[in-house]
Amino acid sequence: MSSYRPYQHIERRKSRQIMVGNVPVGGDAPITVQTMTNTLTTDIEGTIAQIKRAEKAGVDIVRVSCPDEESTAALKYIVAGVNVPIVADIHFHYKRGIEAAQAGAACLRINPGNIGSPERVREVIKAARDHNCSMRIGVNAGSLERHLLEKYGEPNPEALVESALEHAAILQDNDFHEFKISVKASDVFMAVAAYTQLAEVCDHPLHIGITEAGSKRAGTVKSSIGLGNLLWAGIGDTMRVSLSAEPEEEVLVGWDILKSLGIRHRGIKIISCPSCARQGYNVIETVQTLEDRLAHIETPLTLSIIGCVVNGPGEALMTDLGVTGGGNGKHMVYAAGKTDHVVDGVGMVDHIVGLVEAKVAVIEAEKAAAKLAAE
Ligand code: SF4
Repeated sequence: MSSYRPYQHIERRKSRQIMVGNVPVGGDAPITVQTMTNTLTTDIEGTIAQIKRAEKAGVDIVRVSCPDEESTAALKYIVAGVNVPIVADIHFHYKRGIEAAQAGAACLRINPGNIGSPERVREVIKAARDHNCSMRIGVNAGSLERHLLEKYGEPNPEALVESALEHAAILQDNDFHEFKISVKASDVFMAVAAYTQLAEVCDHPLHIGITEAGSKRAGTVKSSIGLGNLLWAGIGDTMRVSLSAEPEEEVLVGWDILKSLGIRHRGIKIISCPSCARQGYNVIETVQTLEDRLAHIETPLTLSIIGCVVNGPGEALMTDLGVTGGGNGKHMVYAAGKTDHVVDGVGMVDHIVGLVEAKVAVIEAEKAAAKLAAE
């Protein structure tokens, strides 16, 4: 990924590209954001509704557990009812993998070493091939194979990588290469070290994540440290933030991590100050309200909401639209870094929402015109 500001440059690891349904993963494809449903898969309506909420938040790929035959039967209806590709999470039973591929799953999360005989592995691979289904090898520090635990004494990065490569070898021996790999651990050091080592020894796309990261706040911090480190080092082709929170929350955090590193942009990126006694208006309340009211916008746009002139003009220089608090309830609005007009504190939020929506409409119209001209 390049930038005209060299200090923002991230050199992305070169990986092969696979497809998860119609979404490319790896190579030069955008780094995708995933989540996983927590409804019963047999609750078709509830699962579709949850996936729709994640879609609204910007998810690219969603994983759904398939622990039994009823779930793979339900999967068919879920796949038909949503717009994003579905990864079927299979643990041990190879038949669930075959059924999920037949039901329209775009990818199977399955560890071939766990499903028994080579014949069963071949059957799952055949089903995946027949139905254009890719796979994810998902190694987890909490469920490492016994022989690796005996060899290494405890879960560690080397054991995670060795496990991943053993599963990968099974697929490769069957001439199946459409897979990505994850080596997750709840310990950030272990996860980052494992992904870093794996990135050096293979070119498969990597699905990155810190597993069981925790509650919304603690898990967000932990994931941001772990995933932030990896992405900054150019490692990771698709990601999931695992939180003990609703899937759409995971998606929003995923996007915020990508936005923070300038890797991908979606929706409004608000730059705001923490506020202090100098603030000309209530910054915290304003930002919270704006975040909610602008959540529906997908077009990337930057907005600075700054309490006073100490940092307001400087931040406005770097954003598409900006507001800086002034005295007597009058605040300065900036457009493309330049002072534009004064806004009254009363009704300011409505005014900013209107400005953002108007700017988004202009950007979208320009995009449409450029697309038309190119055709
Ligand atoms: S920009 Fe102004 S209001 Fe905001 S934290 Fe800094 S000094 Fe305080």
